[in-house]
Amino acid sequence: MKKLCIVIPCYNEESVLPITASVLGEVLRNLISKDKIAEDSFLLFVDDGSTDRTWELIQSRHEENTIQIRGIKLSGNVGHQFALTAGLLAAKEKSDMVLSIDADLQDDVAVIEEMIDKFYEGHDIVYGVRKERSTDTFLKRTTAQLFYKLMGWFGVKTVYNHADFRLMSKRALEEFAKYTETNLFLRGIMPMLGYPTANVYYNRKERAAGKTKYSLRKMCALAFDGISSFSIKPISMVLGMGVGILLVTIVAIIYALVSYMRGEVVAGWTSLILSVWFLGGLQLFALGLVGKYIGKIYIETKHRPRYHIEAELMEDEE
Ligand code: UDP
Ligand code: MG
Repeated sequence: MKKLCIVIPCYNEESVLPITASVLGEVLRNLISKDKIAEDSFLLFVDDGSTDRTWELIQSRHEENTIQIRGIKLSGNVGHQFALTAGLLAAKEKSDMVLSIDADLQDDVAVIEEMIDKFYEGHDIVYGVRKERSTDTFLKRTTAQLFYKLMGWFGVKTVYNHADFRLMSKRALEEFAKYTETNLFLRGIMPMLGYPTANVYYNRKERAAGKTKYSLRKMCALAFDGISSFSIKPISMVLGMGVGILLVTIVAIIYALVSYMRGEVVAGWTSLILSVWFLGGLQLFALGLVGKYIGKIYIETKHRPRYHIEAELMEDEE
């Protein structure tokens, strides 16, 4: 029987935490009774520097049930992605599979069993994918969809409509641990691990209690991190623009010279317009070129692992 750990990042979630703890506790008991997970499977709450009573609530539940309810307290608010990472890395030491889920129960706990079945079928990463987003506000829905489109366009592999509701095997997490970058976007990294994956579909619900901890500012920061930590395409666009404008300059030169020779222009216009186009193009070109090098340095400084070994057949011959 495999041991499951459910990681729950929490930032000021005092209003929803009691519900979450009992609902997820029930999920564990149910799975244990069906012999799908080991008896010492547990919940791991990560307190992301909350300023309300979140940590006290975790502590008191841990005292009631020291095996099933555990917690990590981070010293300050580091944001969802880092809080989740802290939980995942701590959980992998003590379990065979790790599920991550938001504290607000927006993700459907009813599909957890299906995720675990997929795990036993040999999938290392099982993504929870939203079927529709009718419970999200119009703003959240459209910006999120735009974001996934943009990510694809910039060449970042992500699972469409998958947030961080995900089951991972211990070995996938071991590989994930090799990503030591600080500019972290989990949804982009997990598909890079390349292990067998599966999707499980569900409808996203309203928050069980409390209100969103993802302000517009945090959402924008996440979107920018997602793109900038995987792609240096924006820099290439600057370079491309520079090249484009230099090409236009050639046309402008011909046009300006022809107009000049026909005597159709006021004195000084030709030289002025040519310098504007030429210098503008040259500047963008140079900026893009420098940017390309900085982009390479940036990618290099991540020290990302270059490959992940999935299976090995190399026992010594007897
Ligand atoms: N969260 C966190 N640190 C933060 C912001 C959010 O750990 O700085 C947690 C939060 O407690 C929740 C999850 O991340 O468990 C998702 O946040 P939320 O539900 O507020 O985001 P939304 O569903 O509105 O995108
Ligand atoms: Mg939420």
